[in-house]
Amino acid sequence: MKELLRDNIANLIPYSCARNDFKGKADVYLDANENWRDYVGDKNRNRYPDPLCTVLRTALDEVLGLPFSHTVVGNGSDEIIDNLFRMFCRPGKDSVIIMPPTYGAYRVFADINDVAVREISLTEDFALDFDALIQYLKQEKLERTADSRCKMLFICSPNNPSGNAFPLDQIERVCSLFDGITIVDEAYFDFSPYASALTLQEKFPNLVVLRTLSKCWALANARVGICIASEELCAVMASMKYPYNVPGPSQEIALEVLKEASPVKAGLTSILAARKMMEKELLQIPCVEKIFPSDSNFLLVRVSDATALYRYLAENGIIVRNRSKEKYCANCLRITVGNEAENNALLTCMREFKGVSNGK
Ligand SMILES: *Cc1c(COP(=O)(O)O)cnc(C)c1O
Repeated sequence: MKELLRDNIANLIPYSCARNDFKGKADVYLDANENWRDYVGDKNRNRYPDPLCTVLRTALDEVLGLPFSHTVVGNGSDEIIDNLFRMFCRPGKDSVIIMPPTYGAYRVFADINDVAVREISLTEDFALDFDALIQYLKQEKLERTADSRCKMLFICSPNNPSGNAFPLDQIERVCSLFDGITIVDEAYFDFSPYASALTLQEKFPNLVVLRTLSKCWALANARVGICIASEELCAVMASMKYPYNVPGPSQEIALEVLKEASPVKAGLTSILAARKMMEKELLQIPCVEKIFPSDSNFLLVRVSDATALYRYLAENGIIVRNRSKEKYCANCLRITVGNEAENNALLTCMREFKGVSNGK
């Protein structure tokens, strides 16, 4: 990993905050210029939060089996993705590979960091295109210079917006083909029957797995994303991230939900059942042409006229995601599985859709 890091990161003298300088337990803390008063109760809101999310990471280890020394908690996965760009990719020089149609954030963070994006599209049925990948990687190795290299490759599994996960042996194959940092974004892992890429990390130390509490764990509001990687990579990320990147209330609420996980388990079961019901019901609706197999909490649905249907639904107060402009997603809407009332409202509205939008 060291040889892939940017020099400025490899040589960084990290910011040393008060919470890092003194690690023991004391009675009087006059080291961080905090206010001694807590105006909003007795929850230590006047104190800076734990920069390393120690208690939360212990729970992530116990409840989700994410090994303590192999995790960094971020302000959502988004922060982790941005950190990876800033750790490895030299602006204006290095590049990354993404596999469209995929999560839009990879490209946005590449653009923000002035990092070139190479697209190796999935196949039309949303499988990994190994022929194209092998060909591209061969070419990249030939053209690589000291000043320009492909540093990272993003796989989203289950993939957003297509919904499908990739079998573990295929992820393993990508790891063995690519000599940079392979990132497997498992935001929708809980909804999928496929095995996690975590088991490959021993064999591939440059494999980074991303998880989040935003989806199955229903904490999108708290902003808790998790990077699972080698101890070495985690130590570097911990040294370059914003020191207090995860607010105290978010650490506390995440801990609470992890410790009382049974409602989440029950919720997962009901989302999977609702997904199945939605697939069946949607298929009966005339404007629906195809539903792509989903290993996540949403369905990618091909309809006769996605833009007209999107507008019609919106006019009726129902918002879905129009993905028509994404690669191989012509006339596709991405529909999140909601609660019973929400799902039924969507189905009723789609049944009433006559192929043209009201007025517009
Ligand atoms: C929703 C989602 C995330 C979660 O991002 P957070 O910043 O953790 O909320 C990550 N990756 C993908 C592919 C997603 O769809």
